[in-house]
Amino acid sequence: MNRKSKKYVVIITVAVTLIAMVATIVSSMNTGIRLSGKLNAQSADSCVELSWKPTKGAQKYKIDKLLNGSWTEYATVNENSFKDENVKNAEICTYRVAAVANSFQSDYKTAECKYLEPPEIEDILYKQSGIKLLWKKQKGSEKYIVYRSEQTENGDGQAQKLAELSSKKNYYLDKTPELGKTYTYYVSQICGADSSAPNAKKQVITFVPPVSSALVKNSPNGAKITWAAYKGAESYSVFRKVDGESEWSVVSSDVTDTQYLDSGCPYQKTVSYKVAANLPGGGISGYSHKTKFHSVDPNKKMVALTYDDGPYRPVTKKILSACKKYNARVTFFVVGSRVDTYGDCVADAAKLGCEVGTHTYNHTILTGVSPDVMKREVQSANDVVEKYAKEKVKVIRCPGGVVNDTVKATIKFPLINWNVDTLDWKTRNKASTISNVKNCVSDGAIILMHDLYESTGDAADSIMKYLTDKGYQIVTVSEMLDAKGLDHSAGTLYYSGRN
Ligand code: ZN
Repeated sequence: MNRKSKKYVVIITVAVTLIAMVATIVSSMNTGIRLSGKLNAQSADSCVELSWKPTKGAQKYKIDKLLNGSWTEYATVNENSFKDENVKNAEICTYRVAAVANSFQSDYKTAECKYLEPPEIEDILYKQSGIKLLWKKQKGSEKYIVYRSEQTENGDGQAQKLAELSSKKNYYLDKTPELGKTYTYYVSQICGADSSAPNAKKQVITFVPPVSSALVKNSPNGAKITWAAYKGAESYSVFRKVDGESEWSVVSSDVTDTQYLDSGCPYQKTVSYKVAANLPGGGISGYSHKTKFHSVDPNKKMVALTYDDGPYRPVTKKILSACKKYNARVTFFVVGSRVDTYGDCVADAAKLGCEVGTHTYNHTILTGVSPDVMKREVQSANDVVEKYAKEKVKVIRCPGGVVNDTVKATIKFPLINWNVDTLDWKTRNKASTISNVKNCVSDGAIILMHDLYESTGDAADSIMKYLTDKGYQIVTVSEMLDAKGLDHSAGTLYYSGRN
């Protein structure tokens, strides 16, 4: 090869090399792709949502997740987002994403977030004052945020933040809903800079609070139901359910007063009532709490058995088991100082529907003490009884049945004496206690006994059997006063249901 041809070879070699280099650069410009923008990872509804800008020329995206400290191929997707549903509350989720075109792959972009599970709203309660939300506490949560949006014709309105609460609380009372409006509630948990998706696990509710309270009592003409007026009510509906039935029946759906006399109430049953307000436009309010009572037939004979000076477990329990057997409800006038020792007796009596009245705290003859002491004796006895009975004391019996005008003026309860004294305290004899009841009982009688003596406890079964066989309803003092149409006025002394 001469010098000239050597020169050509060099030129050709250089040219080929340059062409190859340019070709490589050009080809890499065509196929080497880069993921543009930022990779986002955030908690969404039951998943972590990854998103990024679409990359020009990308055919698919490759997603890796950091599992146990090493990158693991996790998913390949065609679109520029991914939902990872395999996540746990408080899990730190780290991902990297690369775009892929032919055999080329871009560099990775990395993102991380702490997945926070939105708390589930477990209960929504209507309260007089608003709507109460209760949600499941989330482990590790630092704060909860409650949001609400109002439903309009165009769907859900703007969500408003109602409250920010410490993680110790898992309830919130929204006091600002308006009657008949429909709301969507969300609860979000916050942990450091992370938060759960606020609009996940939402709950929708229309605000119709319940009728606040309803009471039912016996009367000479049937069950008398009274309730609190409901703002905006057009009328009321009254519902009834007899124990053992599965369905509520409508007693009346057009009551314009806030009371109703149900003359169709079946007698000598345990009956529940509830009341709802009928709203303009055909809606209905929430139901009142159901109120249970024992219906007494006012046209049938009745008697109130009363037991003083207890409780005393060995005797009181015998009386209670006889009550159960004969579907009877008696009245106890307990001495307050004994109640903490025999609290179970008071609780059991109340559960059976028996009445627990009081007989002062220390069995004090009230005519011998000042009005202040009278009040204290009654109040402290009532307090301790209410602790176990879980209901208010309604009737009082003064020790010895001794009452004067000062007592009547001071004690703001009906005072219950008796018209039949079995003298059980004196005879301490079962047969004599039974025969005194048999000889003296009449319709409306209030019979005096004491649940302190074994003989009185032993007589209970025979007495109740006899009375039941003779057609008496064995009722509490308050039930009898109601069924006989006697008011329960404070300071009035009653000897029987025939006052
Ligand atoms: Zn007594």
